[in-house]
Amino acid sequence: MPKVRIIDVTNRDGAQSARINLSKLQKTMINRYLNQMGIYQSEFGFPTTWHEVNYLKANLELARMKVLHPIILSGWIRAVPEDVEVAFSRVPEIEHLNISISTSEQMIQGKWQGKKQFRGVLKDMTEALDLARKKGIKTIGVNAEDASRTELVRLVEFATAAKEHGADRFRYCDTVGCDNPTRIAEKIKVIAHMVQIPIELHCHNDLGMAVANTVAGTIAAIEAKVDAYPNTTILGIGERAGNCDLFSLLLSFKYSSDLWSLINEKIDLSLAWKLGNYVARATGTEIPSHQPGIGQKAFEHASGIHADAIIKEMQDPRWKTYELYGFEELGRGEPEFVETGREILMGDFMGTKGFRHICEKYGIELPKDDKEVAKVWELARFANVHNHAILTADELRFIVAYPDIVWEIINVTRPPEL
Ligand SMILES: [Zn+2]
Repeated sequence: MPKVRIIDVTNRDGAQSARINLSKLQKTMINRYLNQMGIYQSEFGFPTTWHEVNYLKANLELARMKVLHPIILSGWIRAVPEDVEVAFSRVPEIEHLNISISTSEQMIQGKWQGKKQFRGVLKDMTEALDLARKKGIKTIGVNAEDASRTELVRLVEFATAAKEHGADRFRYCDTVGCDNPTRIAEKIKVIAHMVQIPIELHCHNDLGMAVANTVAGTIAAIEAKVDAYPNTTILGIGERAGNCDLFSLLLSFKYSSDLWSLINEKIDLSLAWKLGNYVARATGTEIPSHQPGIGQKAFEHASGIHADAIIKEMQDPRWKTYELYGFEELGRGEPEFVETGREILMGDFMGTKGFRHICEKYGIELPKDDKEVAKVWELARFANVHNHAILTADELRFIVAYPDIVWEIINVTRPPEL
């Protein structure tokens, strides 16, 4: 039976979208939470972008140390040989990539205005693929940008060429979110049958169908006997109206289909509440109150018939009346401590005594030696400046556990050649 594996692209598609300013430390924490949750792969950033380099290298070091394990960390670049060269020169440790190029006439004409045609797209993509293989890439996906507005025969040709040049996956991108579940399923079925290559579903939400399209595309790939790699982001953040929301997709797999059993990894949904709230805080966005699973209203009842049934269900939980799944499943229901009186907070100018007090409150054990404590205290102040936000308990815990790695992550410095 084919497998379903989630590739989360929060740290790439989410991070690149307007008004989302994730710090490198926050991106690292997201990789950690995704790993903890059992997500297969994180598209963790851009190896051709200078300000990403230290973060990417540090996260790959965490992977080598088995701290970020077994999650796979993959970079995103354009499918042109120059980008492969630059990626490997700046982050030689990179082992997994997705390379991306436009395939639709709208994009080819609109972007390159006659300077490049579809033949040129194929040439760039296959050359980039050959070069990445020569440089020793372990796995590589090839993205057809704007696949949903590309003729099917062209997509088959593109995916076939990618497969012949050693691509591990083909990413079908509904870049402008114009597909619907029926249409995407038909197209995925044809590509899967004709090319027999594992397919990634990358759907945007411009018509509110990103999750539905991803589910339909995943089922179509599986039925055609190829592995499916749905792409997601946490809270659905991403370009414009966003991408396919990770938690909604997992809930859909579990409660509207039998796809859950095809996910290779053991996914721990109970981290959803924590991770969703972390990303909301880090991105300065609110979780919509009606968000599936983790929205404020997702388990609220205020009408007579509904409340009556739910109260009965509390006594006899056999009958699932008005809730499809339980709040506990998403890690909700634990009391959360909110300070309403005095509070000592980590800040850019906090001293060692306050730092010790905060660590003690969070149960974080500090080194015995005062000189070592002074080092992590100074680092925590730098991390606070880097995040432009009060550090969370998990962030502080991570800083104390891996200080050298954190110095590298937050070190966004001038590149040697600029
Ligand atoms: Zn996208």
